[in-house]
Amino acid sequence: MIQNPIPWPNGAKCACAITFDMDADSLIHIARPQDSHKRLYPISMGRYGPTVAIPRILDTYNRLGLKQSFFIPAWCLEHYPDTVETILEAGHEIGHHGYLHEDPVETDDQQRMWFEKALESHQKICGRKPRGYRAPVYNATDTTIDLLIEHGFAYDSSLMADDIPYLMKTKAGELWEMPVHWGTDDWPPFAHYAEIDYMMPVRGPSAGLAGFWEEFEAQYEADGFFMLIVHPFLTGRLARWRLVEQWLEQTLKDRNVWFAPLGEITDHVAGLTAAGTYMPRVESLPYFDGPVG
Ligand SMILES: [Zn+2]
Repeated sequence: MIQNPIPWPNGAKCACAITFDMDADSLIHIARPQDSHKRLYPISMGRYGPTVAIPRILDTYNRLGLKQSFFIPAWCLEHYPDTVETILEAGHEIGHHGYLHEDPVETDDQQRMWFEKALESHQKICGRKPRGYRAPVYNATDTTIDLLIEHGFAYDSSLMADDIPYLMKTKAGELWEMPVHWGTDDWPPFAHYAEIDYMMPVRGPSAGLAGFWEEFEAQYEADGFFMLIVHPFLTGRLARWRLVEQWLEQTLKDRNVWFAPLGEITDHVAGLTAAGTYMPRVESLPYFDGPVG
């Protein structure tokens, strides 16, 4: 059970979001900056996302009438503008996902520079500032959260302190968290990427996705929040997406669910909270003032 379930619009049992992180080939360029341009295999693996998978995913969403959230490193906005345009034209949300997928922990002293450089690209290419953020490799720091608050973001989606959206408070202000976790992320079942030291045994499509659907059943039963954190170049591959598409069709037909972009889900919870009809759980940051131990 969930102690403080959120009342969803129209009496829906569960809020759902399939969120895609369109990292494309940024991953190899940040990992191997000296020679990534020669490495055609990882470049091609990443390019499959914006060029082949995204049109397939958008086609499904369009047919089923879904609007969802995509998180895109700004370098990818600049290199795949046509794909970005089709995502925006279809009415989906695009969130901040770093500039070149740099790790916020490793680049802590230069975080503001990368963060604001990415914001400029969002403004230029998407014509607006993003309202949501997901840290590359989930590595948000206290600096990141305060930067998001400073720039007026509505939510972060990188952290794991609850099953459902919760509120974070820092000295700088407040920010909603749309929580992630590894059980609903497609890297463990589907990624195999030696160049970035990530080598997992790739699961078959139905075996790899089975864990996601079990996560959904638990959230549905508890009036919760079900979110996938997936990547076009992994879950957008032909056989995997075919199964996700079938699951979407079945779920929309048989279940009482609310699919929405994360920005809308955030607005809903924030609205209930402001009206005093819902009391979110609050996490106060920072957790620590300095090194532990
Ligand atoms: Zn990513």
